Amino acid sequence: MSLKKIAIVGAGVTGVTTAILLRLSGYNVQVFSREYPIIDHKNPFFASSFPAASILPHSVQSPISKKLFLSSILFYHPLFEHNFPGIHRQIHYEVFSEAPKSNPSYLPWLTGYTELPVNGRFFIPHLPDNPLSRAWKSSMFFVDWPFYWKALLNTFNALEIPLAIETIDLSQIDSRFPASEYSLAILASGSGFEEKHNNPLSLLKGHLIEISNGPTLRNPDGELFSYNYTPPTKVYSTLNGKAQDIYSYNRSGSMILGGSRIAGHLIEGKWIGDDLLMPCDPIESSLEWPYSAIFERNKILIEHSTNATIDASQIKSQLLGYRYLGPNSSLCFKVDFSRDLPHIHAYGLGGAGVTLSWGLANEILTKTNKLLGTPQNRSVYHVSPSIQSDSSIDKAKKMASCLAKLITV
Ligand SMILES: Cc1cc2nc3c(=O)[nH]c(=O)nc-3n(C[C@H](O)[C@H](O)[C@H](O)COP(=O)(O)OP(=O)(O)OC[C@H]3O[C@@H](n4cnc5c(N)ncnc54)[C@H](O)[C@@H]3O)c2cc1C
Repeated sequence: MSLKKIAIVGAGVTGVTTAILLRLSGYNVQVFSREYPIIDHKNPFFASSFPAASILPHSVQSPISKKLFLSSILFYHPLFEHNFPGIHRQIHYEVFSEAPKSNPSYLPWLTGYTELPVNGRFFIPHLPDNPLSRAWKSSMFFVDWPFYWKALLNTFNALEIPLAIETIDLSQIDSRFPASEYSLAILASGSGFEEKHNNPLSLLKGHLIEISNGPTLRNPDGELFSYNYTPPTKVYSTLNGKAQDIYSYNRSGSMILGGSRIAGHLIEGKWIGDDLLMPCDPIESSLEWPYSAIFERNKILIEHSTNATIDASQIKSQLLGYRYLGPNSSLCFKVDFSRDLPHIHAYGLGGAGVTLSWGLANEILTKTNKLLGTPQNRSVYHVSPSIQSDSSIDKAKKMASCLAKLITV
């Protein structure tokens, strides 16, 4: 095994998850980040401050989404069974007033996916006075982000992974990480790489509201549920006529209300692209647009579909974050051998960075094994998981058991 270090640039969910998996597999990793990996709502570019966070490959484009998603689920499942903090499983409804033109590719990958006839005989959360054209439910993992992120960072710390707060000049990677000291550089740098290369960033703007003491949403069978509901475009859409969905996900003691997915580019800091369409009859609210629309529509839906109520006085924060879609609006995962030091590029996760994080980290591990050879000496790690030689399922189970032990340290 090479004793040289692996540099990981980025301490968002991609960098942190990758560092944990490589470290557990016996590699000598070092993480570099221009900011501390804490939730920072002031920086809309640090996407890992904003995930809502459903484990669903929404708002991302990649031919390998299926592979990454199914592989991620292999990790989330045992982590959930080992009670890793912040992972929940619940019924999730996706509901449409105007049916999508094509099925989302992820539909067949969902556990317990069931189409719901919209004939009024089934519980389907929606806005009243609007037609329903399509609905399905499935059993999905959700991440209570503040809890999960803290637990992930605690695990990272328990593994004693070195973290340097440093802005890496991404045009000078070879000199910053010389091949004499490093064996590989992993660029998990979110929008940082493309920003550096002066390309307009391809983004999906997203608005969220956090509610304190949010009610727990239950369906008539008493099951905890969440929803994404797309009203008719005349009720909620963008200037370009792109339908928008509203959603609500419970967190412990709070609730997230969404949302928006507005496509555009940032050119010299200026938003060039689509925007939300103001409705003809403005919404009466003390909140600013579009938070007023997001809050009022979710409130009506929740009060119409359940016994729960929410009030504007419960609003804790109104957030704006950017989902970075990658070069050509597609997830970037590739190995660049053209340098002294091989580089793995891993960014552009769009609205699915948490969803795909374990799958992507596992792909990075596979590539790293091929490039550097599987580490032989794992005894320096407290958990000695021997996760390398097993099947994907065994690997995920062993890794989850290691993480569960570490989290109790
Ligand atoms: C409103 C909203 C809702 C979302 N909801 C969900 C959801 O429900 N489910 C889901 O799966 N995903 C969701 N996402 C998407 C998810 O948040 C992102 O896909 C994910 O956080 C991307 O993580 P990342 O680590 O790749 O990038 P980031 O979190 O952006 O991290 C990039 C890292 O690179 C570092 N960096 C960049 N340049 C440099 C440099 N030059 N030198 C050193 N460090 C550098 C940064 O400091 C940072 O640490 C949502 C996003 C938004 C905005």
